[in-house]
Amino acid sequence: MELVSHGALAELHPTFGHPESTERLQVLLAAFPDYTEGRPASEDDVVRCHSARVLELLRSVERPVYLEPNTVASKTSHEAALLAAGCAVDAARRGAFALVRPPGHHATPVASFGFCLLNNVAIAARAVQASGDAARVAIVDFDVHHGNGTQDIFWADDTVLYASLHQRGIFPGSGGPHEQAETTVNVPLPAGSGDPEWLAAFDERVAPAVARFAPELLLVSAGFDAHEREDLYLVDMRVTEDGFRALARRCRELCPRVAAVLEGGYNVETLPRLVEAALDGFSR
Ligand SMILES: [Zn+2]
Repeated sequence: MELVSHGALAELHPTFGHPESTERLQVLLAAFPDYTEGRPASEDDVVRCHSARVLELLRSVERPVYLEPNTVASKTSHEAALLAAGCAVDAARRGAFALVRPPGHHATPVASFGFCLLNNVAIAARAVQASGDAARVAIVDFDVHHGNGTQDIFWADDTVLYASLHQRGIFPGSGGPHEQAETTVNVPLPAGSGDPEWLAAFDERVAPAVARFAPELLLVSAGFDAHEREDLYLVDMRVTEDGFRALARRCRELCPRVAAVLEGGYNVETLPRLVEAALDGFSR
C-alpha cells in the first residue's frame, strides 16, 4: 500500500511535551521515506464536516493556547490541520495510508477535541462522496479510544457506516454498548484484551456489519495505541504487532477499495514497526 504524507507535519504544530508530538512523524518519515506528498484540504472539504467556526478559531491562534484541556494549538496548527486532512483525502482517493498528525477522530462537528484539530478521516469520506468517487463509505476505527467525533459527524448519515473497537470506560467516555444505530457500531472491550479478543470482536461485530453495509470504499482509522507497549494514561490493552497485521488484513478482505489514516499511537519506539505490520496486512 502506498503512503501519503508531508514532511512539514514533522515540524508544524509543536505540542510542548505532549505525547502527540512532532517526533511521531519524524520517526515515521525516517522509517518510510518513500511517500507521495499530500496537499492541504480546502475550506470546502472541511466545512462538509465541521462548522466554519472550528477553522476560524484555528486560524486565529497566534501563540500557544489550550483549545480544551487535552488539545494545545499554536500559530502553525491551522496549517498542520489542513495538511493532515488533505493527506487523508489524497490517501482515500488513491487507496493509500495517510501518515499524518495531529490525529482526527475526536474532533466533533463543532470543536477540536482530544489531541485532534480536524477530523481527517471524516473529511476524507465526505470529499470522496462529494466528487462522486464513492457513494457508500465505511469507516473502521481500531484506535484504543472511541472516535466520538467521527460518530457524531455521521450519526444521522446513513451513507457512512462507523464501526469502532475501543477500550471500555476510558477517554472520551462515549461508545458504550448501548450506543448503536443503523450505521453506527460500537464494540467496547475490557482492559487487558489482547489479539484473540480484538480479532474475535472484529469477526463477530465489525466484519458482519461492514459486509451488510457493502461499502464502495473502506477507510480505516488506524490507531496503534491498543499496543501492549503503549503507555498513555489509562490505556491498558495487549494487542501485538501481529495483531495489528491481522486487523489490517481483515479490513483489506472486507472491501475491494481500502485506505487508511493514522490516528493514535504514542510510543515512538514501537510506532514505525506497528505501521509496517499494518501496511503488510493492508497489502495482502
Ligand atoms: Zn487513541
